[in-house]
Amino acid sequence: MSDVVACTAVHPLPDGEVRLLGAIESVTGAMTRVDIGGQKLLVDCGIGQGREARSWVFPDAAKGVDAVLLTHGHLDHIGSLPQLLDGGFDKPILATTATLDIARISLEDSLAMQRASFREIQWFLETFDKLAHPIPYDRSSGPTGALNLNVTFREAGHILGSASVDIVSDKSRVILSGDLGRPGSPILKDAFTHWGNARDVDVVVMESTYGSREHEHGHDDIEEKLLSVVKETAAKKGKIFIPAFAIGRTQVLLYFLNELVESGRLQRVPVALDTPMGLLVTETYAKFRQLYDAETIHKLSRGDDPLDFDDLYVSKKGRDSARIRSAPGPMIIIAGSGMITGGRIINHLVDGGLADPRNTLLFVGHQSVGTPGRRIQEAAKSGASVWLDGEEVPVRARIETLRGLSAHADRKELKAWLSAIPRVKRVALHHGEASAQRDLVAYLEGKALPSSSSHQH
Ligand SMILES: [Zn+2]
Repeated sequence: MSDVVACTAVHPLPDGEVRLLGAIESVTGAMTRVDIGGQKLLVDCGIGQGREARSWVFPDAAKGVDAVLLTHGHLDHIGSLPQLLDGGFDKPILATTATLDIARISLEDSLAMQRASFREIQWFLETFDKLAHPIPYDRSSGPTGALNLNVTFREAGHILGSASVDIVSDKSRVILSGDLGRPGSPILKDAFTHWGNARDVDVVVMESTYGSREHEHGHDDIEEKLLSVVKETAAKKGKIFIPAFAIGRTQVLLYFLNELVESGRLQRVPVALDTPMGLLVTETYAKFRQLYDAETIHKLSRGDDPLDFDDLYVSKKGRDSARIRSAPGPMIIIAGSGMITGGRIINHLVDGGLADPRNTLLFVGHQSVGTPGRRIQEAAKSGASVWLDGEEVPVRARIETLRGLSAHADRKELKAWLSAIPRVKRVALHHGEASAQRDLVAYLEGKALPSSSSHQH
């Protein structure tokens, strides 16, 4: 049994060390410095989000590295790249091609939200494009450019392009999980399991978002719940508003809606995709079909595009969004952002959506404390109203949550992923609350209590 270590920043290697710079005992701000074989790498360059945003400080140790490796394009893994590039970083950024594409979309959006000027955004994108260095899955980078190491990206099954990273020098080997998806998730392949045992693994850095929990809801439960919410709302000619994160969650929702429409169980309810970034990311998913799992490729070969169906309408411009608002129900509207902290969902809810008892607001992910999403959930219980965008809005719509759409492996799935790696000397947990990390240590050592039920993140 290897050593499993929770909430600890530094892990020694025969020829260097692994140092967690972020997500040491939290779920955002993933950033890890790996000094190995005389070279300095940064794996992910994330940013603190939610309640961790206030205390987030860009770490000095992130500067002066020889390369950045990105595991995937979620902001909590890439959000500090603008700051790194601003500071003069001019070395390669290594990632899968899909991750580089998604990172570019996501960072452009994030800079615009922070009110960066057009010139600043253009400068960032040009610099990012110059440094971006795509590495295909399962192919060792070999010594590239300044790097004298072997770096291999392996499928992580979390979002399109997501990868675990295997880094090998003459004396050390480190594997970083990145965020790990659930086996059997729609669209994507499962995480890689065929790790070679030619070399000991000195340190595995593994995420632990669900270190305490086991998911209870399967795909059939999700489809049934989605169908019943839509049917009941449609019968009242209401609208179903779904606040969804643009990357990953939106595409999985489209996949389930496509299943319901193509199987004939859901009929004549138009679906509006009212999120410019969600649309761009969905187009990126469509560009990388070679990364889909066998089931999805089989669907495609039968002529069924899992991310497109007859009743799906996309809205590119703001005036399309206004037209959707004035159109009568029934209708499903998918709009960002996932916790209602911004995006077009706010206009829909303020402009009559939330006050109309025929409508349903369907959450598809965990709502963090302090976000408008959580405030609406609480107001719904007490019958109060909420303040959104400077207006007091009564919560009369039905409020529901669709569970089970998590893009993260639970503790059982994390254990299975880890046990597929032979000859591991030390496991460093990160990307989880301190309690989740401690629970996972106990679980991996066979001392855990039965799990509490699944929450979403
Ligand atoms: Zn992620």
